[in-house]
Amino acid sequence: MNSKPIQENLLSATDAWGKLLAHRCPKCGQVFFPRMSEFCLACLHDTLDEIELSGRGHVHAFATSALPGSKISAPYTCGYIDLEEGARIFTRLHPEFTEADIATGMNVAIVPGELWRTDDESVIGYYFRPA
Ligand SMILES: [Zn+2]
Repeated sequence: MNSKPIQENLLSATDAWGKLLAHRCPKCGQVFFPRMSEFCLACLHDTLDEIELSGRGHVHAFATSALPGSKISAPYTCGYIDLEEGARIFTRLHPEFTEADIATGMNVAIVPGELWRTDDESVIGYYFRPA
């Protein structure tokens, strides 16, 4: 079975799974994930540095959906994670953890994993789990 990342240029190639890639403004320090622009949206500086994110942060807010997504069965928990580098991202929490296992302010870390599977392809992304 083939596997592919959910998004090209999402992960670096420094190890088997890579690390999440982001942009950091060398002038004001703002971090952007996912990478979206070639200039800083905060101060308009015209260059951005590519950085690898640590994959660590803490839960800002979370909720569990009772409705399935187009490729995700319900229930699933997602939330906003404040990364150590300063960016806030919206993401899924690992499916082995329920809402009862998660708390606002909890330290979390990234783990790679299969997000969904089709007949001939496995789509790889990431989750956050308690750290
Ligand atoms: Zn900037």
